[in-house]
Amino acid sequence: MRDWARELGFSQIGVAGVDLSTAEPGLLAWLANGFHGEMEYMAAHGVRRARPAELVPGTTSVITARMDYLPGNTPEGWQAIEFERLERPQEAIVSLYARGRDYHKVLRNRLQKLSERIAEAIGPFGHRVFTDSAPVLEVELGARSGQGWRGRHTLVLDRAGGSMFFLGEIYVDFALPATEPVGDHCGRCTACIDVCPTNAIVAPYRLDARRCISYLTIEHAGSIPEELRPLMGNRIYGCDDCQLVCPWNKFAGRSALPDFDAREGLVGQSLVALFGWSEEEFLRYTEGSPIRRIGHERWLRNIAVAMGNALRKGEDAGIRAALQARAGHPSAVVREHVEWALRQSGGAAVPSSPRPTGDAPNS
Ligand code: SF4
Ligand code: SF4
Repeated sequence: MRDWARELGFSQIGVAGVDLSTAEPGLLAWLANGFHGEMEYMAAHGVRRARPAELVPGTTSVITARMDYLPGNTPEGWQAIEFERLERPQEAIVSLYARGRDYHKVLRNRLQKLSERIAEAIGPFGHRVFTDSAPVLEVELGARSGQGWRGRHTLVLDRAGGSMFFLGEIYVDFALPATEPVGDHCGRCTACIDVCPTNAIVAPYRLDARRCISYLTIEHAGSIPEELRPLMGNRIYGCDDCQLVCPWNKFAGRSALPDFDAREGLVGQSLVALFGWSEEEFLRYTEGSPIRRIGHERWLRNIAVAMGNALRKGEDAGIRAALQARAGHPSAVVREHVEWALRQSGGAAVPSSPRPTGDAPNS
């Protein structure tokens, strides 16, 4: 099965059992704290997320699969290149995982193909594939099946492969021996917690999604809390900082597939250029990209915040004029963020993003 998975572009597969009962208290506490924000679908599935056999009756094992997403031509020192983008306020930053094709489609198709290969070998079996799916406790399944350990930033990471990968799962109705989990190698490092611009990692292994830039720019609808806007800098879709700073990402794998190669026009692009996209252009340029899911309104909202932050740094280069051109946008959300951005000006206190290099983790 490992060879088939590799041929399909997965870097590693594992197997988890379906008794995740020890994860239920942590899940319930996270929900009780409201850390899921507006992701009501998380709460709606409740503890069923920790009970694969209730979600898909008959499930006895879960095959987990990992797919690296850094493009094949990613150079050494890519983390420094990404951090440098934060120093160019007029440039728009899209999270690394979202620069290519929509991973949901890529992973689902390939998990389905892997299921078909297994069925050819053992005969038909019941199964369902998932990736980044609300009812699945993905990180827990990944960690239990040895894809890595859950880092202080709450993502799965691995000594040999860092954390720049997607996870997917196949729920199957036949028993497979579980693969062994790996130990925690964060050591004394707290780099991800220290670097987080919005202090969203409220304690080791605990993320308040309501403060996380990934959540705010992608999942969150409506107005972004004003106190968080200056901290978002020029990140317009997602945020990579806690992964960029992680020492284990020296070992981040590269994708075996061209699907995650960056699309032209999404990297190194100016805020003004992306803000100028009409809805029709947005839909055209983001066809097959995960960015399309947020829609044109959130796209403009996010860029308006980044433009306001550029103005706070005393940079303009057409930003004020571009904002003014959108001041009468039909969306109240866009108008409100544009108005906020236009009120920003150079000299405003700009919260800085600390850049600890991180203690070398104990390995
Ligand atoms: S993605 Fe960004 S905002 Fe979210 S926890 Fe990581 S560093 Fe913080
Ligand atoms: S940055 Fe440090 S603490 Fe955070 S996940 Fe990586 S090794 Fe662990």
